[in-house]
Amino acid sequence: MTKPTTTNTGTPVESDNESLTAGTQGPILLHDHYLIEKLAQFNRERVPERIVHAKGAGAYGELVVTNDVSRYTKAKLFQPGARTESLVRFSTVAGEQGSPDTWRDPRGFAVKFYTEDGNYDLVGNNTPVFFIKDPIKFPDFIRSQKRLPGNGLRDHNMQWDFWTLRPETAHQVTWLMGDRGIPKTYRHMNGYGSHTYQWINAAGERFWVKYHFKTDQGVDYLTQADADRIAGENADYHRKDLWDAIERGEFPSWTLHVQVMPVAEAESYRFNPFDLTKVWSHKDYPLIEVGKWTLNRNPANYFVDIEQAAFEPSNVVPGIGYSPDKMLLGRVFAYADAHRYRIGTNYAQLPPNLPRAAQVNSYSKEGAMRYFYNDANVPVYAPNSFGGPHADPAQAPDGGLWDFEPTMVRAGYLEHAEDGDFTQPGTLVREVFNDEQRDRLVSNVVGHVLGGVQEPVLSRVFEYWTKVDPEIGKRIEDGVRAGLDGAPTPPPAQG
Ligand code: NDP
Repeated sequence: MTKPTTTNTGTPVESDNESLTAGTQGPILLHDHYLIEKLAQFNRERVPERIVHAKGAGAYGELVVTNDVSRYTKAKLFQPGARTESLVRFSTVAGEQGSPDTWRDPRGFAVKFYTEDGNYDLVGNNTPVFFIKDPIKFPDFIRSQKRLPGNGLRDHNMQWDFWTLRPETAHQVTWLMGDRGIPKTYRHMNGYGSHTYQWINAAGERFWVKYHFKTDQGVDYLTQADADRIAGENADYHRKDLWDAIERGEFPSWTLHVQVMPVAEAESYRFNPFDLTKVWSHKDYPLIEVGKWTLNRNPANYFVDIEQAAFEPSNVVPGIGYSPDKMLLGRVFAYADAHRYRIGTNYAQLPPNLPRAAQVNSYSKEGAMRYFYNDANVPVYAPNSFGGPHADPAQAPDGGLWDFEPTMVRAGYLEHAEDGDFTQPGTLVREVFNDEQRDRLVSNVVGHVLGGVQEPVLSRVFEYWTKVDPEIGKRIEDGVRAGLDGAPTPPPAQG
């Protein structure tokens, strides 16, 4: 026998199909409680979408540590042989929930590790750098990539206006306009912690560290033309690819590496190691293998497991801490605050966010949608004389301590010898890209700029690219001018 449909409180309902009316042509009656419950629930099915990274996909998996990095960190999840359950959410950044997966955009690469010492979140991207380096610019940057207030349209003029007025964007923009700006699938891209973090070993020694997840599927990309076509054919192309691969048992994996910088070397390094618009050269700090990270389980319910997943850089565990990277420090506040707004005060109790290998002994209580609660005999305040939990600094992460000059300032980053907004994008274009990749870079930028960039922004676009590389700058200017004169040009790139 099939189960009877019930109300949310378990009472069998009379009909799945007909509302209660006063006669066949009469009005619908307000006391049809099941109809009202059904419509009211439906009206509330959506939580606010994320202001950034709204469209995504995710899966569960595990990290297995294959190397010994214990001389750099005491974090339990990175000890030799450790296995830790993990959740990832991949995403685009600027598009809304239904937006095509193949628009040109960085991809979010947010990973949660369910460790014995509490959840550890590494909320990264598929790029090692970012557009800006101070959190005060974040709302401005995102607004410039989203929609105009009047007509509700995205606007390339606004995007390039912001980018060219803030030259620290040049590295990430060069990266974005290159092949890696549209990954072939989520499986074919690397992930980067991007920020500089701190590792602390059992002896209390501190190191600066950067995380690199290198895809075992190989890095691969979509051309602008393929991405545009796919955007129309299947907006969920990347979500479907990830889901299907895991269903087939073809579990995607990444090899996790770190770059480690002894604290004493930071001051004299040729780039400011805390500036999120710069990388640490592999030649200076070679990658050290840590382990294998594999995705092996699709979510049971997309909304519960992925939409409600809340990643926050504030989730660190003993052996790991923050750094003077201002973007990281800003995000430590902003992410938890976003979750409190989007999915509620008690978001940490939702299934994807609840610790799985650690116990929660917190004094937090009540608030909307409270689900778990302490026994009645556990005191609600600390300190107390009745056996409630008490803080133990020896077990806690210290958040990452570092020395600094105790002066309050509003200033940029300290300039290191080879800093400069255009140094590393220039290296990327000249020394990493090959001829074909440079050709596609030029074509992608020309197409994007022809999608509506006007003076005075246009002249600044040419200057910006000339500073990245004079030859690329000239080719972009020639391509755009030819397009403006009516010569055939590539279609404008989305994103
Ligand atoms: P390397 O030659 O050692 O590193 C170059 C790295 O660039 C490669 O290892 C690869 O990183 C990445 N790369 C390759 N092709 C592309 C592409 N089409 N688009 C974007 N990245 C690509 O030199 P350096 O470490 O001195 O870095 C030189 C430049 O490379 C930097 O200025 C930066 O623009 C770029 N880069 C550097 C990274 C780093 O962490 N040092 C990471 C990524 C890019 P991967 O192995 O991560 O795929």
